[in-house]
This record gives sequence, C-alpha cells and structure tokens, in this order.
Amino acid sequence: MQHHNESAGDHASRNASPVTSWSREHWALATLLATLAVFTISIVPGLANATREPVVAHNTFELELPPISIDPTEGDAPGMGEPDWQQVAVAPGQTFGQLFGQLGLSTRDMYRLLEHPGAEQALTRIRAGQQFEFDIPNPGELRAVRFERGDEVVQLALTEEGVEESVTERQVQRRVMMASGEVRSSLFEAGERAGIANSTLFAMANVLENSIDFSRDIRVGDRFHVIYEEIWRDGERLRDGGVVAASFSNRGKDHVALRYVHADGKVEYYDQDGRPVRGSFLRMPIEFSRISSRFNPNRRHPIYGTVRAHQGVDFAAATGTPIRSAGNGRVTFAGWQGGYGRTVIVDHGRGITTLYAHMSRLGNYRVGQRVTQGNVIGYVGATGTATGPHLHYEFRVNGAHRDPLTVTLPKPEPLPANELARFRAQTAPALAQIQLIDGRRLALAE
Ligand SMILES: [Zn+2]
Repeated sequence: MQHHNESAGDHASRNASPVTSWSREHWALATLLATLAVFTISIVPGLANATREPVVAHNTFELELPPISIDPTEGDAPGMGEPDWQQVAVAPGQTFGQLFGQLGLSTRDMYRLLEHPGAEQALTRIRAGQQFEFDIPNPGELRAVRFERGDEVVQLALTEEGVEESVTERQVQRRVMMASGEVRSSLFEAGERAGIANSTLFAMANVLENSIDFSRDIRVGDRFHVIYEEIWRDGERLRDGGVVAASFSNRGKDHVALRYVHADGKVEYYDQDGRPVRGSFLRMPIEFSRISSRFNPNRRHPIYGTVRAHQGVDFAAATGTPIRSAGNGRVTFAGWQGGYGRTVIVDHGRGITTLYAHMSRLGNYRVGQRVTQGNVIGYVGATGTATGPHLHYEFRVNGAHRDPLTVTLPKPEPLPANELARFRAQTAPALAQIQLIDGRRLALAE
C-alpha cells in the first residue's frame, strides 16, 4: 500500500506544474504540430499497449526527472521510526542552500552533507526540476536526504557518527514499442486513442524535421511507422526512451531515420545509407526565433533608407539566444566587423562559408578552431548596424551570396566505411521490423 500511496503522490507532483515543465522548445513544437494538417494514428495490434498515463509532454530527458520511488522503509536502521520523506523539486535558479532554507533546515546540517566526499558536486550543481527527498521527522530536524545520480538513488543519512551513504540501483525496464499511422484526422486525438504520448510524436517530428517540413508538407495519405522506447518501473511508465527508428512516407517519398549510438555514446540519426538525417547544414542556425527579414536583392535598408540587397536572412530572437554553427567547419573570423558588429565566419570546405552577425558576445571558438554542426559559436545581440536584437545569417558558395533557406545543400557524407558496418549491425533489426510492418500493411491494402 505504501507503494501505491507514493505513486499517487508522484503523479500529483508531476501534474502539479505541467506548464513550468514545458520548455520554450516544447511550446514551439506544440504550436508547430497544432498547425499540422490532421493526422490519425492506428496502432499495430498487439505491439503497443501503453497504459493511460496523464500526458506530460516532454522531449528532453533533463526536464522530467523520474520521481524517486525506492521503498521508503528500505535502508533505515531499526528503531529509527517511520521516515517522513518530503519530496521537493528545485525551482528555476534555486540553490541547494535555498532549498534547505525553504524546508526550515539548518545550514549546519547542510555543511555536514556538503563535507561528505562526493556530495558537494551532486548537491551544488543542481538544476530546475530536479527532485530531492528529505526525511524530516520533526520540524527543522533532518535525518536523511536522497536523490538520483544516473541510474542510482543515493541516500545520505545524518547520524551521530557522521554522514552515512547508501546507494540503491534503480530498477527500470526499457520497453520497445511500435506504432503506425496514416494522415487522416487530428494528431492529438488519434495519438491519445492509440496510447502514444505526444512527446513521442514530437520526438519523431524532431528527428525528421530536416527532411520534412511538418508545417507545410503533410498531406492526407502520408504514412509513418515509429519504433520507440519507454522507460518503465514497477508497472509504471516513467518517461520516453527516445525514437529508435522512424519512417515517414510524405507525399509519396520515404524518409527513414535510424538511431545510432556511436562507440563513444553519442546518439545520432541516420538514413539507411548511413547519412545523417540532420543534413550537412542546419536550415536555421538558431532556435526560438522568427524570420524578420528574408534574402532579398532589392531591399530598402531599414537604417540607411537606400536600396541595398539583403544578402542574408535575419532571425529575430532575444539577446543571448545561442547561435549554432550551421555545419562542420573551421572558424576563419571571430571578432568585430564594421556594421556587422560582433561576427563569426565559418569555412565549411567545398567553397561554402557561413557568416553570423550582430552577436552580443562570441562563443568559445577562436579563429582556426574546428566546430561541429550545432556548436554554440555566439549569442544574439544588436551590435554593429542593427535596429534590434537579431541574427543576420549569410550563406556563401564560392563567395556568392545564396538564400540559406532555399539553397540546395550538399548531401551529407555517409559514415566512414569502418563505422558503417557497425551502424548496419546495430540498426538492422529496427529497419527490418519497419520494412516488415510496411510490407504487411501494403499487402493488406491490395
Ligand atoms: Zn540582415
């Protein structure tokens, strides 16, 4: 019964603040998906049977830490009395010391914990949404604190002798699920009916966003299959485990994304040929922005009032928004450049360079350094000649300006041969499963 009480508590605490657990990215994506032409999803019978779970949409693991649910009586010395665990989530910007103050606990106890070997990093480098549990038998009296560290639950008990640490492994199961859909009616309604969390749909759209324009290109008759993981514990679904593989037939063209875990643990998605689905260049080197001025050879300049070609695309965004390198390359300029203000130029080889202007400050990359696609090379600002904070982004091919939003981007290089074999071995089962399901559906349709 103890366990059930605790689960109910977990649900309550997770539902208590659904809004704060949504990042701006979620909202952006939710808006995107809400404008989608309508979808319907039919589940492949027998393959997925998720339970009704309150929908807490999320697509980054950091945002939703699974609630701690080890047996609360476990690990307590006999005669210590019933533990009285209070679960607390870290508020944005809150420090561990403030958490202590909020609970009416003494700083002396906090320092005792911090002095425990290895505890300082876990207790001072905390982030919003992270959960801690405190055993407070009487007001102001701290008996123990526990928190998650990777796949472990660490409990630090304050005893007369000092701080006692105990570590329990969190038992979780990874379940592989599969669902198939066909575009017909509302995505959210159908997703709910099929038992697919919105977060899984978001994750699929995220994976394929470079191949498919989900806001404009979806058509009735589009089909998809997605293999994904869910993390369960004690018969309870904790969170998404990510997309393993997805195929999306959009306007008759098939797009496939296969998850590949590199030897160093890095996770990326590739098509069947081992080419990254993100493409060789990001279309937009910045998130959370809107296009405020397009590439236009005849634009009237907002400050000079004269007709001057707009050689790039402007993305309006808040000062400080990270700017990412659109592709792999080498920094050839990082500093002040007249009306461009603080600027970075990246050379991507094959005659392609990209330019990022008006930065409030530069990232950590200096001239000559290599950057990988997605690395933060600077932050949005309004330096140089700018009417407000925005990123001015230019794409040049052999020195000539091109519209970054429409230029035909070079096909990304596939994985090198030695890694391709490893990739094929790892992704073959998921690919085979998708092909099998797809074939079966086509056969039924005939
Ligand atoms: Zn501009």
